[in-house]
Amino acid sequence: MSASDPTTSSSATGALPQTHPNVAVIGGGTMGNGIAHVFAQSGHQVTLVDVSQEACERALAMIDKNLGRMVSKEKLTKSEKEATLERLSTAVSIQDGCKGAGLVVEAVPEILSLKRDVYKEVESVVDPSAVIATNTSSISITKLANALKHPSRFIGMHFFNPVPVMSLVEVVKGHQTDSAVVDAVMAWSEGLGKVPVPVNDSPGFVSNRVLMPMINEAIFAVYEGVATPEHVDEVMKRGMAHPMGPLRLADFIGLDVCLDILRVLYDGFQDPKYRPCPLLVKMVDAGTLGDKTGQGFYSYT
Ligand code: NAD
Repeated sequence: MSASDPTTSSSATGALPQTHPNVAVIGGGTMGNGIAHVFAQSGHQVTLVDVSQEACERALAMIDKNLGRMVSKEKLTKSEKEATLERLSTAVSIQDGCKGAGLVVEAVPEILSLKRDVYKEVESVVDPSAVIATNTSSISITKLANALKHPSRFIGMHFFNPVPVMSLVEVVKGHQTDSAVVDAVMAWSEGLGKVPVPVNDSPGFVSNRVLMPMINEAIFAVYEGVATPEHVDEVMKRGMAHPMGPLRLADFIGLDVCLDILRVLYDGFQDPKYRPCPLLVKMVDAGTLGDKTGQGFYSYT
């Protein structure tokens, strides 16, 4: 099955998505502030929605800092930075933040019930032709779409961290996503200077289905005493030209996030090849989650 041929349903209203929509980004954390940044930098009016004024201000400060870094590297002029910031506003409620949005990108934590509640509220505010996208890294797009009255407008827009730097957007088509919505999201992603790649909804999409078994196997190699973490990473960097070894990458992603995604793959495919390594489970149980706790396969103190 190709990414463009699954069964589709017609658009909620028959109206085609807009060419340069106003964007609402829900959740201004690690991913959400980067997503708001790249849309605003590309000329979209963006409203960033988070749970409190403090959270919104933290997100804006991060965007300001990242834009400043681009100015100092001469990738952006000062006036482009100012214009980008002028296109950004914030809101502490979905009701206020999503009015007039033609595209809503959700980037709240990876909790099914939280995301579903967000979509119900979004759908009560936005125009019926608005596209609703999620940045989920592992939850089924088809299952999330189930919360909506019009699942044909729902799609995965999987950005990578750090968003302003990483060029890929994995565009994930759910079982009921309208193909006009896929086309619009592909075009909008290109407008951000990104490279969108269409994939069909399946556990882990393509990115994590390929990446996580490699990380898991690297952990098994350590668990079985084949090599130290440093040596596993050195083999993959020197021999396979990976910029970062799999264990360093696992620490960067967060070992808890890696374990959650492996469990999604294991449950989704019912295949023992995705069984999480016991060492990974043990490290997560111990609270050694990588960069964010200061200790994972490496120490960051
Ligand atoms: P995060 O915890 O850094 O940020 C989440 C933000 O959402 C926080 O600012 C929080 O205050 C806000 N939030 C929570 N509930 C909200 C609500 N009801 N309304 C508005 N805002 C709310 O999380 P993150 O790492 O940015 O991850 C967000 C999503 O992106 C997750 O689905 C995750 O799986 C996915 N993702 C993460 C990465 C990554 O490397 N961090 C990469 C790809 C995809």
